[in-house]
Amino acid sequence: MFTLVLLGPPGAGKGTQAVRICDSFGFVHISTGDMLREEIGKKSDIGVIAADCLHRGELVPNELIIDMAVRKLESLKEERGVVLDGFPRTLEQAETLSRLSEINMAISIAVERGVLLDRVCSRRTCIHCKATFNASEVNGVCRRCGHKLYIRDDDRPETFYARYSVYEERTLPIIEYYRKKGLLSEVDGNAAADDVFNKIAKVLSEGCGGNTDDKH
Ligand code: AMP
Repeated sequence: MFTLVLLGPPGAGKGTQAVRICDSFGFVHISTGDMLREEIGKKSDIGVIAADCLHRGELVPNELIIDMAVRKLESLKEERGVVLDGFPRTLEQAETLSRLSEINMAISIAVERGVLLDRVCSRRTCIHCKATFNASEVNGVCRRCGHKLYIRDDDRPETFYARYSVYEERTLPIIEYYRKKGLLSEVDGNAAADDVFNKIAKVLSEGCGGNTDDKH
């Protein structure tokens, strides 16, 4: 199984690009943020802890997320490939993940801070398939599956600033971690989603080494 880690600050387009990669390369999307939002919806034990962290823009505790993500990864080991979106987010998560599973590639999507704030504040998310759109491009309805769109609780400006600081402090070191391992590719994410995807697809096609049945 080809395992790709997608890195980037909030609003970099990790979710959007993960969906496109999966559609194009036949991979499975693992979003720890979506998994947590599902737990919150179910009001499970994990959901109750996570709700407060998400609302404040903080990370949920490592022990809770690592266990959840690793179980999900194991359940998908027969798949062609997976895209990890939002995991790992701390050095401890990255180190634990490397001990438990082979990582084939990490792609970091870099976007300027001002662009991120605009994107996050105008982001609309599908209640069903979790696809995201810019508010100006849609009319409250998902273009992918037709379900309703909503504004995520943590996509408010004040929560964005908290999330961005957490990214700088706790997630940025992971970029160096994967660079040292020779696994990192960096992509400029300031452009339109189609252009960013083309760059990612190129890097990925080269990195897969013909290993996957690339449909792109
Ligand atoms: P996302 O949908 O990836 O933006 O994640 C939304 C929120 O879920 C984050 O701001 C964190 O509160 C929490 N979260 C998602 N993934 C992780 C992770 N790997 N470690 C800790 N918290 C996470």
